Amino acid sequence: MRFVLSLAVVVASFAFTIVSANALEVRSTGAQYTQLVSQIVAEEITPVIKQLPAKQQERLKNIQINVVSDLGTNAMALAIDDTPPKILVNDHFIQGLSNYVEAYLVADLLKRPEYIEEHFSHYFWALHPHTNGVALVSPFQQYPELANNLLVERKQQLLGGAVLDVLLHELGHHAEGAFYHFRASMYVRRQHENSAEAWSDKVKADFFPDSGLGQLISIGFIFEQTRWAKLARDTYYPRMLSAVTEFIPNNCENSDSSEVLMFCEKLSKNIEQLYSGQMISGYEFRHKQGDHFASFPLGQVEWAKSNFVDACYYFNESLVYGQVARAAIFVGWCYQKGYLEPSPPDAEVLALLNEKHGGSYGFSPRQQELTFLQ
Ligand SMILES: [Zn+2]
Repeated sequence: MRFVLSLAVVVASFAFTIVSANALEVRSTGAQYTQLVSQIVAEEITPVIKQLPAKQQERLKNIQINVVSDLGTNAMALAIDDTPPKILVNDHFIQGLSNYVEAYLVADLLKRPEYIEEHFSHYFWALHPHTNGVALVSPFQQYPELANNLLVERKQQLLGGAVLDVLLHELGHHAEGAFYHFRASMYVRRQHENSAEAWSDKVKADFFPDSGLGQLISIGFIFEQTRWAKLARDTYYPRMLSAVTEFIPNNCENSDSSEVLMFCEKLSKNIEQLYSGQMISGYEFRHKQGDHFASFPLGQVEWAKSNFVDACYYFNESLVYGQVARAAIFVGWCYQKGYLEPSPPDAEVLALLNEKHGGSYGFSPRQQELTFLQ
């Protein structure tokens, strides 16, 4: 049934190759989020463009928007000064935003802010090219009991806001003619980025005064990606955080929404910890409180220092009690090298099996949480 449904969606998006008659055209390359982008362009952006000064309308005319799945993990979206002018939106990035929004809502309901990190610990691992066959389970799939209609609707709202923000920024590059070569100096880049962003800010202030969390969701996702890459000492996922933190004050200082302010406070604190080394003492504190997920990053920290005895102790704890599937790889290695005793003869095989079926693991004592909620 699921296969038939997803096939139907793909066919539908090809059949429509949705053209909005006025200014913008959204083309489908079969990417997952074409429909969502088309809807936002048709329902929210096109009516706004019609109200802009004629000169700007002219510049925003005939832009072709492509939702693509081959931009890699580096870019959110790109504006290209071409004929016709183009915007490329990264399908993978929207996927990340979608999971981020779900994790944010689930974390809120569970009253466990650390759930977002736990989810993305698995997410970036499952999507890593070194990892084969690990299932990517979205937070709503992990907690179907929580994902009622109201929550699904709220998710669409937040995800729509985040994607709208990405599109407005790229349109800002076109509206302001703010293009630069990829080898341009930092100074030139910043000038053009700032003018694209200023245009987008003005449109948001004039037409979308409640856009609140939109851009913060992108920054939150990029934060998770950067923290993951830093702890895993991984170079596949780019560390884009420093490029986006400058947008936080714009979003936070003038907001009178308590949800936005709370988001700002948590995000700023997390970013500060990431860059100050307080992150480790945060995990140590959580570990002392009995949070077994926190053993995993502590294992990574000890591993990086070649303290294998401690690393193996933490990894084993995170696998057995924290259900961090990814730890199985390390635990297998620890058995093999004799850092974990006693060493059963099939420990390595067990570890590999665990890795293969890692998707069926949760990342936290799930049943316990649901009982707690009732
Ligand atoms: Zn830009």
